[in-house]
Amino acid sequence: MAETLMPLEDAQAIVLENVDKTPLVEIPVWRAAGSPLAEDVVADIDISPFANSAMDGYALRSADLVGATPEAPVELEVVGHEAAGHVFEGAIAPGQTVRIMTGAPVPAGADAVVKYEIVDVLDGDGNEGSRVAFTAPAKMGENVRAAGEEAHAGDIVMHAGEVVTPAGAGLLSSAGCSKVKVHAAPRVGIISLGTELVAPGVKPGRGQIRDSNSSALMAEALDAGAEPVFFGIAPDDEAAIAELVHRAVAECDFVITSGGASAGDYDYVTALVKREGTVLFDRISMRPGKAITFGLIGGKPYLGLSGNPAAAYVGFEMLARPAIRKMRGFAPAARPVQRAVLTHGVRKRQDRRFFDRARVERDPESGELRVTEAKTQNSALLGTMQRANCLLRIMEGPCELAAGDVVDVVRVDVPEGTEL
Ligand code: AMP
Ligand code: MG
Repeated sequence: MAETLMPLEDAQAIVLENVDKTPLVEIPVWRAAGSPLAEDVVADIDISPFANSAMDGYALRSADLVGATPEAPVELEVVGHEAAGHVFEGAIAPGQTVRIMTGAPVPAGADAVVKYEIVDVLDGDGNEGSRVAFTAPAKMGENVRAAGEEAHAGDIVMHAGEVVTPAGAGLLSSAGCSKVKVHAAPRVGIISLGTELVAPGVKPGRGQIRDSNSSALMAEALDAGAEPVFFGIAPDDEAAIAELVHRAVAECDFVITSGGASAGDYDYVTALVKREGTVLFDRISMRPGKAITFGLIGGKPYLGLSGNPAAAYVGFEMLARPAIRKMRGFAPAARPVQRAVLTHGVRKRQDRRFFDRARVERDPESGELRVTEAKTQNSALLGTMQRANCLLRIMEGPCELAAGDVVDVVRVDVPEGTEL
């Protein structure tokens, strides 16, 4: 009889229910780029606090230039200048103008700025004491940026939940905010399990393999917004595993192991969680990554991924990544899913949710999105994951797809919530 496996959606819901947002930390605004804000940020002043010039030129009264033409230019007297840090304190009267630099405050009385390049300097150097001529009228408000164009004092310049961009860090600073509150990057403890594993710097002996999962999972955790912490490799030995898991649970917000997740002779990790905590699931309808344990140990969420590199990758992507994003305060959002045309046939015999490593590309001639699976779906191969930009999703049920059929692909190279 076929085994009844938990649907992926149920497993995802269980994981999300069992993780909480991390405590708030205050960080410099420039460090907050990529993070969702935990609180609204309100401008303490009008931004900009004064009307200012969009051009280097002359500030004047637009009424003075009515009827100006090349044949009948209007002449004005330059009565002062405005430059960075130098403010013209007076007001300009009819017939007067002030030399002004970009960003400088537009003086009282002026309502337009004419750019320097189209003004004729009749005598002097164009500054105070010079006379200048204009050969065309200026519109009221021309080249003047209004005060408070960005925001008014008391306005919310960025809302809680909004993800700060690098330019947004500048906006927060202009609102008087040099530090912001965000949810701390959760500490995610990574452990590799397996007697056959050696550190990447070691040449493996017979029957040994390099621990590649810890590097991949650390990088994935970092990319998801966590602070990964590596706790090392434990051999398939109950006491050694328990020691590392206990240390990680004590120091981290979330613990992820890879290896030892299949119900083989050497599977101690699920037994440990069962004994000391609660197992919330240990099998799901997914390939790769059916053998995946989630539970609580010492009150902390624990995810036990299978050691197969592809299974660990897909398990992290589908279950750990959404959890880390929730802990960081990101609004729930999924990776974008696109419809693409298969370039080859796909047949599956098993009744599980499949995620095959694949590449989707737009055909330059037809404009059509086309997806091609990696040549082999061997779960031990990492190069196929390095080069994949999507996971071809095949839902449960009979699967006999032909070239030209339209399928769903999950874009793992594009951030959650992106419209494609
Ligand atoms: P397991 O989940 O322990 O049954 O492991 C499944 C497969 O993944 C075995 O072939 C392991 O040798 C391999 N494997 C386990 N852990 C790692 C790791 N950290 N890095 C690379 N391969 C691993
Ligand atoms: Mg093993």
